[in-house]
Amino acid sequence: MSLENCQRCGSLFLREKSEFCADCTRWYAEVYGKVRAYLREKPNSNLWDLHVALEIPLSVLQQVVKGEKLH
Ligand SMILES: [Zn+2]
Repeated sequence: MSLENCQRCGSLFLREKSEFCADCTRWYAEVYGKVRAYLREKPNSNLWDLHVALEIPLSVLQQVVKGEKLH
Protein backbone atom coordinates (compact mmCIF):
# COMPACT_ATOMS: atom_id res chain seq x y z
CA MET A 1 0.00 0.00 0.00
CA SER A 2 1.23 3.46 -0.84
CA LEU A 3 -0.09 6.97 -1.26
CA GLU A 4 -0.81 7.79 -4.88
CA ASN A 5 -2.77 10.21 -7.00
CA CYS A 6 -5.98 8.85 -8.46
CA GLN A 7 -5.65 8.31 -12.24
CA ARG A 8 -9.01 9.93 -12.84
CA CYS A 9 -9.56 12.80 -10.43
CA GLY A 10 -6.01 13.30 -9.16
CA SER A 11 -6.88 13.17 -5.48
CA LEU A 12 -4.46 11.52 -3.11
CA PHE A 13 -5.50 8.10 -1.88
CA LEU A 14 -4.10 5.00 -0.27
CA ARG A 15 -3.49 2.57 -3.07
CA GLU A 16 -4.35 -1.08 -2.63
CA LYS A 17 -5.38 -2.72 -5.89
CA SER A 18 -7.07 -0.06 -7.97
CA GLU A 19 -5.30 2.90 -9.57
CA PHE A 20 -8.37 4.98 -8.72
CA CYS A 21 -9.67 6.38 -5.46
CA ALA A 22 -12.78 4.86 -3.88
CA ASP A 23 -15.13 7.36 -5.52
CA CYS A 24 -13.71 6.82 -8.99
CA THR A 25 -13.59 3.04 -8.54
CA ARG A 26 -17.31 3.19 -7.84
CA TRP A 27 -17.84 5.50 -10.80
CA TYR A 28 -15.96 3.16 -13.16
CA ALA A 29 -17.92 0.18 -11.85
CA GLU A 30 -21.09 2.04 -12.77
CA VAL A 31 -19.78 2.79 -16.27
CA TYR A 32 -18.81 -0.88 -16.68
CA GLY A 33 -22.30 -1.91 -15.72
CA LYS A 34 -23.86 0.45 -18.27
CA VAL A 35 -21.50 -0.68 -21.03
CA ARG A 36 -22.15 -4.37 -20.32
CA ALA A 37 -25.92 -3.85 -20.25
CA TYR A 38 -25.82 -1.94 -23.52
CA LEU A 39 -23.66 -4.56 -25.24
CA ARG A 40 -26.01 -7.31 -24.13
CA GLU A 41 -28.78 -5.53 -26.02
CA LYS A 42 -26.65 -4.49 -28.98
CA PRO A 43 -23.61 -6.78 -29.22
CA ASN A 44 -22.30 -5.21 -32.43
CA SER A 45 -21.89 -1.71 -31.06
CA ASN A 46 -18.61 0.10 -31.30
CA LEU A 47 -17.11 2.71 -28.99
CA TRP A 48 -18.81 5.54 -30.83
CA ASP A 49 -22.25 3.93 -30.43
CA LEU A 50 -21.60 3.57 -26.70
CA HIS A 51 -20.42 7.16 -26.50
CA VAL A 52 -23.54 8.50 -28.19
CA ALA A 53 -26.00 6.24 -26.38
CA LEU A 54 -24.55 6.42 -22.87
CA GLU A 55 -23.00 9.91 -23.02
CA ILE A 56 -19.71 8.64 -21.69
CA PRO A 57 -16.51 10.31 -22.99
CA LEU A 58 -14.59 8.24 -25.56
CA SER A 59 -11.41 8.40 -23.51
CA VAL A 60 -13.25 6.81 -20.58
CA LEU A 61 -14.78 4.13 -22.79
CA GLN A 62 -11.35 3.29 -24.14
CA GLN A 63 -10.11 2.73 -20.60
CA VAL A 64 -13.17 0.70 -19.71
CA VAL A 65 -12.85 -1.66 -22.66
CA LYS A 66 -9.07 -1.89 -22.46
CA GLY A 67 -8.36 -5.54 -21.80
CA GLU A 68 -12.00 -6.41 -22.36
CA LYS A 69 -13.27 -7.93 -25.55
CA LEU A 70 -16.15 -6.00 -27.01
CA HIS A 71 -17.08 -8.66 -29.50
ZN1 LIG B 1 -10.51 9.63 -8.02
